[in-house]
Amino acid sequence: MAYRKPSDTEIVEAVKDALRRHGVIHSQKKFGELVLAELRRHDSDYSVSEVRIRRLALANDLVSIDIRARESHEKTSASACPVCGGRTERIKNLTVYGGTVTRGYKCKACGYWTGLKRRIPTLYIFSPKG
Ligand SMILES: [Zn+2]
Repeated sequence: MAYRKPSDTEIVEAVKDALRRHGVIHSQKKFGELVLAELRRHDSDYSVSEVRIRRLALANDLVSIDIRARESHEKTSASACPVCGGRTERIKNLTVYGGTVTRGYKCKACGYWTGLKRRIPTLYIFSPKG
C-alpha cells in the first residue's frame, strides 16, 4: 500500500471538520481515527500519525486538551513538552533558606506538567476551542 502524507493545512482543516462533527473526543486514538476519516474523504491513501495531529491541533489553537497521566519511576529531565512539543518551564518552590528548588516542569502552551518523577500521559480528551 502506498501511503501519502497530507499537508499541515489539510490536517488542520480535517481537525476542524472532525471537531465540528463530533464535539468533545475522549481519546487520542478516536481523535486520530476521526481526523483520518475526514482526510480520506479527499484522498483514500492519506496516512498521518496521532502525534502529528495532536501537535497541529494544539499549535493552531483548535483544541483544549485534558491530560490524564501516571507517574513513572524515571527522573524528569528538562526538555520539550511531550504533548505539544512546546517549551517547558520549571515549577519552583521557595526553600526556608531563601533559595529555590525545582519541583517539576510545566508547559504553558498546553498545560502539561510533571513532577520530578516523569508523568507519562495515558489519556487525552480533546475539546473544541472557540
Ligand atoms: Zn505542551
